[in-house]
Amino acid sequence: MIQVVSQQQMKLSNTKSVFRLIQVNKNISRIAISKITKLSPTTISSIVDELMSKGIVVERLPLDNIGAGRKAISLEINDVKKYIIGMDLNQEGVTGTAFNLKMDPVFTIAERFNKKTLEDVEIIRLLKSIINKLMKAVKGDFNELLGVCIGIPALLDPVKQSIVISTALNIENIDLYHSLQAEFDFPIFFENETLVAATAEKEQYEKSTSPFIYLSINEGLGARVIINDQFLQGANGDSIEIGHMSVDLNGAQCSCGNRGCFELLVSTNVLAVKTNKAMANNTDSILSELMSKEGVSIESAIANAVLMNDPLAIQIVDEIAIDLGNGIVNVINIFNPEMIVIGGRLSTLGDRLLLGVQKQAEKRAIKPFFERCTIGLVKQRDNTISRGAAIYTLNRVIESQIN
Ligand SMILES: [Zn+2]
Repeated sequence: MIQVVSQQQMKLSNTKSVFRLIQVNKNISRIAISKITKLSPTTISSIVDELMSKGIVVERLPLDNIGAGRKAISLEINDVKKYIIGMDLNQEGVTGTAFNLKMDPVFTIAERFNKKTLEDVEIIRLLKSIINKLMKAVKGDFNELLGVCIGIPALLDPVKQSIVISTALNIENIDLYHSLQAEFDFPIFFENETLVAATAEKEQYEKSTSPFIYLSINEGLGARVIINDQFLQGANGDSIEIGHMSVDLNGAQCSCGNRGCFELLVSTNVLAVKTNKAMANNTDSILSELMSKEGVSIESAIANAVLMNDPLAIQIVDEIAIDLGNGIVNVINIFNPEMIVIGGRLSTLGDRLLLGVQKQAEKRAIKPFFERCTIGLVKQRDNTISRGAAIYTLNRVIESQIN
């Protein structure tokens, strides 16, 4: 395959690789980075100098004395003074987390709201309030905020940074960005929640894993495709509407205009409807007891019931797994991916869901494609969107120094 990569893209990709190596390896030397990346010592030095001039990387004295002669100076991510805020804005509320540059969460604030009465001024007020509270909470330990990114379930206009539509939040054509940016002197980004979750999850895998597909299954089904470390770009940006691929041509009418869409068969809403229906006809299932516990989500209750061998819960998960598996067959046949990750709250259903999906995909997908594709569950379920938003911000900060 012929690939045309600009010098700038190459430099950005190299910088991200060097940054990532320093992030995951405590105390790594320039020579060691050069050996691993196979980039010349001059290239490494120039990248490291740039990262150091931004204060993202610092030099540390070696931990142990390796004998006489010159010791190799090791490099580390600067985990003091500078921080990033990642936020998760969804239909239940806003969660904001301050991370240091090693991506350790330092402080979290969450506020809930009622989406039925939500207006854009209220969203802006809430976001400002959480950012201000987080800045106050970490003051003393950190003094420079590099940026904030808010992950949101919406279709965004990348040029205007405005929200085109969010069915989850019931808002349309609003500009949250300019009113927020006017208040603060650090960069603010809004990004789609599936994109930031995919960004966070991709960090768990080798850079070379490609194509890498992330499915975010909550009330809807979102997806992102990463090819050679870049999000697949369509004419309208990076969104891929796998959730609106028809898997039942004569199925129910979808709000998108199509019929029998994938997300009409596989989502947490579908799970809730199936569960309530099944429970009405089967009163002796342990599910009713598990679901009556306060604060337990429907997907956690079902996952627990499966572990307790409840036949009703097992049947519900197996049905969802077949529908999810059928959709994934199309994804495998179209993209020939190396990795598909099932994320979002539906992934709480766990291994039974995964095994069912794998079985269905094995039956129906193009055999050599299925054999090359690993299907797995999301590795980092906690804080995925806030963490992804923070990683996204740091990537943008690194990019800004190269442009
Ligand atoms: Zn649809």
